[in-house]
Amino acid sequence: MSFWNSERCEYCGGAIIEKTVILYRRVRDRHVLVENVPAGVCVECGMRYYTANVLKTVEESLHGRREMKQEVLAPVYSF
Ligand SMILES: [Zn+2]
Repeated sequence: MSFWNSERCEYCGGAIIEKTVILYRRVRDRHVLVENVPAGVCVECGMRYYTANVLKTVEESLHGRREMKQEVLAPVYSF
């Protein structure tokens, strides 16, 4: 029984299923990805929902309070 089983999408009323997603955030001038984030995803419109606990862990990651798994360089182009 998933946390999201009885929930409905706020936007379209679709069913919500649990998935792990990659969360992208920009923090100041840095691009940060958090992998394997458990989220509720609407099967109709793709809207993502996160529980308070998950958001707290994401915030801790974004502010460097957790050990990063990996740092990758993003491609940079010059015109
Ligand atoms: Zn929806």
